[in-house]
This record gives sequence, structure tokens and C-alpha cells, in this order.
Amino acid sequence: MRRAGDRRRIASRPIGVPRVGARIAALGWAVGAAMIPSCAGDGSPDLRDEAAGRVFLIGIDGVTWDLLDPLLEAERLPNLASLIAEGCRAPLASMVPTKSPALWTTVATGKEFDSHGINDFTQVVRENGPPNARVMHMTSNMRRTKALWNILGDVGLRSAFIGWWVTWPAEQVEGYMVSSHVPLAQTGGKAAPTKGTLVQDLEGQTWPPELFEELRPLIRPDESVTFQEARRFMDLRPEELGKNIVEGFRWAFAADETYRAVTLHLLEKDSDPDLWGIYFNGNDVVGHRYWKYIEPEVYPPFPPEELPRFCNLIDRYYEYTDGLIGEILERRQPGDTFLLISDHGFHAFGHRDGPAGVIIASGRHVEPGAVPRDARLVDVAPTVLALLGIPAAEDMDGRVLDELFTEEWRQRYPRERIETYDSENWREQSPIPSGVDGEILERLRTLGYLE
Ligand SMILES: [Zn+2]
Repeated sequence: MRRAGDRRRIASRPIGVPRVGARIAALGWAVGAAMIPSCAGDGSPDLRDEAAGRVFLIGIDGVTWDLLDPLLEAERLPNLASLIAEGCRAPLASMVPTKSPALWTTVATGKEFDSHGINDFTQVVRENGPPNARVMHMTSNMRRTKALWNILGDVGLRSAFIGWWVTWPAEQVEGYMVSSHVPLAQTGGKAAPTKGTLVQDLEGQTWPPELFEELRPLIRPDESVTFQEARRFMDLRPEELGKNIVEGFRWAFAADETYRAVTLHLLEKDSDPDLWGIYFNGNDVVGHRYWKYIEPEVYPPFPPEELPRFCNLIDRYYEYTDGLIGEILERRQPGDTFLLISDHGFHAFGHRDGPAGVIIASGRHVEPGAVPRDARLVDVAPTVLALLGIPAAEDMDGRVLDELFTEEWRQRYPRERIETYDSENWREQSPIPSGVDGEILERLRTLGYLE
């Protein structure tokens, strides 16, 4: 068994040098030509493919080409347009049921729901039989397989994941984890689908733990959203700011603003992590709450005066999201590769039948105008690893979308897979931080979710 601190090695090799083989999983990585000093700080040399550059995996929940295309045509999404112009675009097949925690965990692991174990928002916990059943949101420790942030640490690379689903309690990573916590209070303890954010008074939201104090001033609670901010999206009257009709928008926008500020803070503080995983939920939320103003004819009637006031909200939210991407692009480096994805599309009444999402690939290793073939959510993690010069694993359900890559990178990335990145005792090796929500952890423990 591998021990904590015992890193796998990855070789930096010029084109034409034989690739690392499948046996490296058992043997430890073959050592290649160039050695780059460790950034993990534990004294062990970090061997990586220097030519890989950074990868940005940007997740935008619930975005559809049906809305993107007219907005692109009207030149209202300049940043997405520039990514597409220098890269490529395609639909990304989704999976059913379209439950965000399950889909985004599939993105981060390359595995189907059954393999990673996160198949829903919540889990009904029956402590003393059905009458006492309680609903709990699924937490990071319930995931049964390694995610990208675990794998990168294993191979001596660093990651920064921000706002990703089912990352609370924050796991110990090489780099940064800024988790997403769904407060039960938000749903009154019911299983209603909700989206997470950072909250003021909860432990275990970041790795390293002390990062939280730095981020605390950046947290935007929904009540901090101002009339001026909301007015950008809809024709609002000041007295409506606290009303039901704006409520969905307010907490979606507050969460996106929080993670936007966190992303810019971390990029400023330390631009070095090899993989950036950044997730924004607002488009999905406003889709659910405001789609009726796009297709009023298929929804139950509502006061007609609402229509002109809210019918542009979703389009404007797409523009806002394009701005978020623009702020990240302002900080790009020549070696960066971008993968922008949504987990499913959207139409009237939501996304229950799993309409296709979106994939946009662009940057260093992406061939302009490439045509992805039947891209699926399970393909994202193997593709991210390949872009970083790391082998995918045989137990991942997806494939490397190498038809997106430049000819040079297609020759260079490691095609052979290792058997698995999992080990029987990896949870013991990466314990969740102590002191997190004792009550929940204790309950999980007594119920056998924790070893
Ligand atoms: Zn979603």
C-alpha cells in the first residue's frame, strides 16, 4: 500500500520518448528527463510535464446552446465568443437524473453515479426507523472514489477548486479547496434542490483551514445584494428587493459573487496551481425561477405586468456569467488551456430529461475548430488529466477527448492508463479536517458512513 507522502512520479519527456506504462501504478512513476523543483513543499521532487501548462475547468450549471447561440450572434457574450473563436464547441451529453451533486461529482471523477456514490442532493437517514427519518445533504466524505483534486495531489501537482459540488467538509489537498456547503436551514430541512455557498459560521469550508479567515470578508450573504445590483437584471422596484420574486435571484447572485471574489483573490495570491476548478450555479437557479418569462405560453398564468419586467433576466444573467469568465481570462497565461462546461441544458420546466449541456475548449493544447465526438460528462476528468500530462485510469468510465487536442499534444500526452488512482485506505490517508460540524459527523459515524 502506498503511504501518505509517497508520491507517484510523472515524467517530463520530449516527443518520441516511450510513454509511461500501465505498470507505473504499481511500480511508482518512471523518472524522466527534466525535474522541476517541488511546489508541494515536502522536499520530494515534483516531476511533471512542464509543457502541460495550467488547466482551467470552469463549470457553469444549466447553460444551454439554445440561449447561448442567439446571445453569441447578438455579440452579447464577447468572452465566450473569443474562447470559441480560438478553440471549439459542442454539446455535452448529460445523464439522468439530472441532479447537480451527482453530475458534478461525475465531472470531477470520470465515473458514473454508482461508482462514486453521490447520486442525489440528500440522503434520508433513518436513525430509529422511518418516523424519525431525517434528510441530510450529501457530503464529501460520502464520495467513494478519488476526485481530480485528490489525484493531482498524488502526482505532485496542485489544484484550486472553488465552489464545486459536494466538497464540504473540505478535503486535504495540495493547493486550495474552497468548498460549497448547502445549509439545511436554507430548505427547512426538506430535500428541496438547493445550491451551496460559503457561510460565516461553519468549520471545514476551506483547505488549508486558515484560508477561511482570508476569505471571510469576501462572503456575500443574499441579504447583501443591493437594489442597484439587482436592477441590472430586471425592472425592479426598491420595495420588492426582499420579496419572493427576487429571492431566487438574490441567493444565486450572492453565491456567484462570493466565488467570483474568491477566485480572483486566489489567482492574485497564488497563480501557480496546475488545475483550477471553478463552479458557478446562478444560471441554473435563474433558469428554474424565471424561465416562465421566456416561454409564458407553456406555464400557468401569472400577472401579465411581470412579463416585460423579468423576461430579460436570464439573458442578462448569461451576460453576467460571460463577465465572470472575462475576469478569469484577464489573468490567463500563454500556457493555459480552458475547458468550460455545463452539466445539462435547460428548457421549459427545467432539465429533468437531461438535455445536453455545453462544452467549450480553448487555449494552449486545443486545436482551433476541432470537432468533439459525442462528448459526455464522464469524459471530462480523463481529458483534464490528459491536458495536464497525467494518465487517466482504467476504472474511469470516460475517454480522453483527444480529438480536441493539437497534433503536438496528441503525440505527447500519456495514452496508456494506470489501473486506478484509488487505494483501499485512501480515506484514512486524507482525513477530513477535524472539528467540522460535530453533530453531523457523529451522526454519519453512528450510521456507518464513516469508518
Ligand atoms: Zn445542474
